[in-house]
Amino acid sequence: MNATPAYQLIDRPEQLAPLLAALDRVQEASLDTEADNLYHYRTRVCLLQFYVDGEIYLVDVLAPIDLKPLWSRLATKHLIMHGSDFDVRLLYDLCHFRPKSLFDTMLAAQLLNRQRIGLAALLEEHFGVELDKDSQKANWSKRPLTQRLLDYAALDVYYLPRLRDLLTSELAVAERLEWLDQQCQRQIEAGTLGFPRDDENGWRLGRSERLRPTGLAVLHAVWHWREEWARKLDVPPFKVTGNELLLRIAESADHGLSARAMVESMHLGKRHDRLAPSLLQALEAGLARDPHTLPRRRGRDPNQQPLSADELALQDRLKTDRDRIAARLKLDPTLIANRAQLAQVARAPDKVDQVLLPWQSGLLRNEPALRADHPANRVATERAERSGKTVTQGELSFDETNSPPGEKSPSTDVSDQTDPSDDQLEQT
Ligand SMILES: [Zn+2]
Repeated sequence: MNATPAYQLIDRPEQLAPLLAALDRVQEASLDTEADNLYHYRTRVCLLQFYVDGEIYLVDVLAPIDLKPLWSRLATKHLIMHGSDFDVRLLYDLCHFRPKSLFDTMLAAQLLNRQRIGLAALLEEHFGVELDKDSQKANWSKRPLTQRLLDYAALDVYYLPRLRDLLTSELAVAERLEWLDQQCQRQIEAGTLGFPRDDENGWRLGRSERLRPTGLAVLHAVWHWREEWARKLDVPPFKVTGNELLLRIAESADHGLSARAMVESMHLGKRHDRLAPSLLQALEAGLARDPHTLPRRRGRDPNQQPLSADELALQDRLKTDRDRIAARLKLDPTLIANRAQLAQVARAPDKVDQVLLPWQSGLLRNEPALRADHPANRVATERAERSGKTVTQGELSFDETNSPPGEKSPSTDVSDQTDPSDDQLEQT
């Protein structure tokens, strides 16, 4: 294994002073957090890892330490983080902390079109370091923290400055440093909106669009059944059942299966006997419910309305432009604009600068689809002006703007994560 760098564990109030002093000496700090979202219903920050002025500090957030002096200092520093989306939200939730500026090494790796952008992969590639993969999924709320976990936590921040330096020079050569700045700034903006709370449409999972009214009513019922159990057991919802099972139940309901037949056809893992009776009740309630009484989608949200034929055509042309540029620049197309953003631009092409970051709209603006003199484009532009719609970045849907492409943010849909150690939920 690797030699572990020295670190200081801070779990008593009087141990905080050296970290505060270190922060006072520097302009930047590397930061990582470990949370217990794989183990509890409500996510808590359990550990903060800092690498500041050549020293590693591990702060036990569950210990009775007043961290206010830490947050006020940190708010004036440039931060180096990896995959900061979840952490920034978490810290904002914890204490309304907002980073001044940051360098996210994962976003940097994305803009360099690295195929493996996880920290473990990057550390292995550049420093020959192996991160302990089990520790990543450990229960960070357990005390005392084991040596193994602390060692892992220390390595998580130790290489960040060197990784940053390395990625910075590559980005400079590719002339993409400015792109990264914009991405990181947007990450801060999005992260300091916190997590969406108690969305009454949270139950509308992945394929739910394709369900018929009966299936929707059943999905609504079993989703709430799962939330109730997750809260009662204090586990993340995905540890009660996966989304896939809920969707399959809803689809079976659409195919006319009875509640009893559905429950009999599945196995809910180690808690089956405890969960099954209430699932049967939830299913019966769902089947009995008048689908018209389900909570409606937010009607005002223009992004939920279907696109017109003209807008769809423009969206297709935008996508063609985007994919061509992406291939030329060797970039993941969704980094230039994801699906939701393409739809928003198609709806209001004159608002492209509000929907996309400057580097993104700069790439698209002079391509055929958006060029003002494009005959097909003019119609859409005029219509957007007539309707006076304004699309701002704040309205972009949470999960689409902030997730790394092809990956679901753990913050938005914890239930999609699968924990290999969790064997409860196979359907039989
Ligand atoms: Zn970590």
